[in-house]
Amino acid sequence: IALCEAEGSPRAHPTPSALELRFNWKFFWHFLHPHLLALGVAIVLALGAALVNVQIPLLLGQLVEIVAKYMRDRVGSFMSESRRLSTQLLLLYGVQGLLTFGYLVLLSHIGERMAMDMRKALFSSLLRQDIAFFDAKKTGQLVSRLTTDVQEFKSSFKLVISQGLRSCTQVIGSLVSLSMLSPRLTLLLAIATPALMGVGTLMGSGLRKLSRQCQEQVARATGVADEALGNVRTVRAFAMEQREEERYQAELESCRCKAEELGRGIALFQGLSNIAFNCMVLGTLFVGGSLVAGQQLRGGDLMSFLVASQTVQRSMASLSVLFGQVVRGMSAGARVFEYMALSPCIPLTGGSCIPSKDLHGSITFHNVSFSYPCRPGFEVLKDFTLTLPPGKIVALVGQSGGGKTTVASLLERFYDPTAGMVTLDGHDLRTLNPSWLRGQVIGFISQEPVLFGTTIMENIRFGKLEASDEEVYRAAREANAHEFISSFPDGYSTVVGERGATLSGGQKQRLAIARALIKQPTVLILDEATSALDAESERVVQEALDRASAGRTVLVIAHRLSTVRAAHCIVVMANGQVCEAGTHEELLRKGGLYAELIRRQALDAPLTSAPA
Ligand code: ADP
Ligand code: MG
Repeated sequence: IALCEAEGSPRAHPTPSALELRFNWKFFWHFLHPHLLALGVAIVLALGAALVNVQIPLLLGQLVEIVAKYMRDRVGSFMSESRRLSTQLLLLYGVQGLLTFGYLVLLSHIGERMAMDMRKALFSSLLRQDIAFFDAKKTGQLVSRLTTDVQEFKSSFKLVISQGLRSCTQVIGSLVSLSMLSPRLTLLLAIATPALMGVGTLMGSGLRKLSRQCQEQVARATGVADEALGNVRTVRAFAMEQREEERYQAELESCRCKAEELGRGIALFQGLSNIAFNCMVLGTLFVGGSLVAGQQLRGGDLMSFLVASQTVQRSMASLSVLFGQVVRGMSAGARVFEYMALSPCIPLTGGSCIPSKDLHGSITFHNVSFSYPCRPGFEVLKDFTLTLPPGKIVALVGQSGGGKTTVASLLERFYDPTAGMVTLDGHDLRTLNPSWLRGQVIGFISQEPVLFGTTIMENIRFGKLEASDEEVYRAAREANAHEFISSFPDGYSTVVGERGATLSGGQKQRLAIARALIKQPTVLILDEATSALDAESERVVQEALDRASAGRTVLVIAHRLSTVRAAHCIVVMANGQVCEAGTHEELLRKGGLYAELIRRQALDAPLTSAPA
């Protein structure tokens, strides 16, 4: 009976917060209410099917009674007497099948639509969350809410309606017909069944726990394999194959132990429940038989009783399984709904846009202080003030971890400053439309360009969806990318593979530059754009960047100081503040931090990329 309970148990969700989550009925209603009509019909059909199910054993019993009578008396025609009943039964079978078909179709219609709507809503609400939200979350967990949790919620929902309704109706209906058939036998059953169910539930919950542990162990083993296979280069480079094998083997070993324990538990459970059920049948037959012998019960009724009591037991067993499923489904639903209720601090739209004739691209950081939301006590920027004049190149240099990328993130408005403000042409960024700012004003090129697993054409067009093919070619030429793209057999239709795995670093970077240039940004941010490249790629990319920088407000972040020499102004950051600013010559003459950095980099061999 409660066997599938033990086998089909949940995937372990180790997040402790998931346990405290409350199921949001408001959201549930929101997704359910478009389907109320279908749901109503489904419920009626399911109830009907269940009621028919209750009827069937009664008719079967009457048929048996006719058979018994015919065997006893051998008078009349068996055929003619049983015809009416048989047709009735056939009819009921047909109706039952039709009703079942109907409500299952309706339920799958409702379930799939709800699941799709939930996924859509969750995905769009996830995409709108603050960057700070993603700093604190694992992508895998977010994705599993979209997949596993929605799936689990959907199947629980369907199960509750189909099985739950059917089982409840069948239990009630069968109990009624049982007590009508024979109150005495029913009383006997009413004592034995709950006792057995209790024992079964207890064992079942033990098995469930075991199965959960089993699954957690499988997940651990999978984790080990995943890590090793995913980082096979590192494993190979350290010759750690043997150790990884041993690690995996150890995890597998405990998997096996747990699974075997579970298997023994299930076997015991099945054996015992078989004995219990058979004994119940025998007991009923025995007691019922003596009632039949004493003329207190008809043989056919005993038969009906047996069938109906089996129905009750099966239904109660499936209700107990269902209960576990409901708990799991509700917590899965709670996880799905959790982030739908969350609204980001920095919305995607809203706020004003500066008309293009008034847009100069002058940017100022006014006494900006900032600490990351996930690390509130740690101030990355302290009273940071910096101006990027329109059409000029400003270079930001300084120690690694000094907060340079943070400055770029604030400019993109991935975060808002804790104190102070950032302005574009005198407007506080917080009053401007973030999508306009990111989509049309600022072009951002980082050290690790991320491409999407589609064609080169679509990757470049990511910067401006409505761009014509001509615009794409022009951007590619500007980015020094046209030549290598044309050399591919498929040209612009070449699929770059997941995360651009099939391209070299320099090629990826040039595509990223083309993608940023196609939107003709007023402001360009180059965050260590060339530092992951070898000298030759760096030269080509640098050439493209120099061309792209002309006439734009540019913030260049670099640790290789050779790349910033040409900037109109070089700003040296330390301790979250600007500590020096000026041209290359001015700063050298001054003999401060910049001069020191230059001296240190000059000491390094020209080929090594010196850590800043
Ligand atoms: P840089 O680009 O100059 O190397 P960053 O701006 O990346 O430095 O980082 C500045 C500081 O902020 C570092 O101490 C880093 O650990 C921290 N930091 C960077 N990104 C995050 C983040 N998303 N969440 C929390 N702390 C961060
Ligand atoms: Mg950085």
